[in-house]
Amino acid sequence: MRSRAWPLRVAVQTASVAWAAWIALNAAYLVAWADQTRTPPPALSALAGLFPFGPEAGSLSIEDYCPFGPLEGVVRAAQGLAAGRGLSFVGPVTLRNLGVLFAVAALVLLTKKTFCSWLCPFGALFEALGWIGRRLGVRQARLPGRWDRRLRRLRYAVLAVLVGLTGWAGYLVFKEVDPFFALYTVGSAAAPVGGYVVLAVLAAGALVVPGAWCHYLCPLGAALDPISRLGRIRITRADPACTRCDRCSRACPQRIPVARRQRVTDALCTNCLRCLDACDRGALELRLEVRP
Ligand code: SF4
Ligand code: SF4
Repeated sequence: MRSRAWPLRVAVQTASVAWAAWIALNAAYLVAWADQTRTPPPALSALAGLFPFGPEAGSLSIEDYCPFGPLEGVVRAAQGLAAGRGLSFVGPVTLRNLGVLFAVAALVLLTKKTFCSWLCPFGALFEALGWIGRRLGVRQARLPGRWDRRLRRLRYAVLAVLVGLTGWAGYLVFKEVDPFFALYTVGSAAAPVGGYVVLAVLAAGALVVPGAWCHYLCPLGAALDPISRLGRIRITRADPACTRCDRCSRACPQRIPVARRQRVTDALCTNCLRCLDACDRGALELRLEVRP
């Protein structure tokens, strides 16, 4: 059974993927062709004319909207501030990326990690791959709970390594293997080969281990965890209606024991609403709660 929010979530995810693909099309193809003084096909030129930034924006790419860049370069930024050089970024990160990061953090502060299951184009793509895998009859793996909990800590290690290496090297080291950047600059000379390799491995992995990237590797998701714990819009459970059937817990992709929570304050909750879908007693609801 699906809640009324399910079509809305899919629609938002589709819009998010389409938006990212639109930027990729604009930047990776039209700009590249313009650089090579080749004339883009008329249909693509017409589409680019509709895009608010247009091919004349030159270097505009998906990385201009990436919230992870300022995080990855936080050591360098701190060093610059400590040395009195003011706020500086590791190129090509700009103030726009910092604005996107703050916007994502504010959203998480209000709605927990809704960003992950509603807005992140990468999360949406991997979720779609998991769905395709199930439709194709691919046998999907579910790690034992102990291993799942251990592997989730890997995200913090990935975050620490990327921040440390970028601070040491002075450039965005993740870009060399960034599957997100590879996906959304496909066909462009800017796309890193390492990113394609990682992307292929993750795409294959998503077919057999649903949520592998988001659950075990995503450094942005790891960085958002502490803020998510404070998120005010969250799942709450009404005791009188609940039969303790545990269906909500089993439906949760984050393995949160929803049936044992009065309110889901867990950092991992992405407000995907699957627990709401699973509860046929109407015992769960999404609420704005001001108190901690
Ligand atoms: S699915 Fe509904 S009734 Fe069952 S344990 Fe969860 S909240 Fe309670
Ligand atoms: S199933 Fe419920 S508790 Fe689990 S992540 Fe989704 S909204 Fe949060």
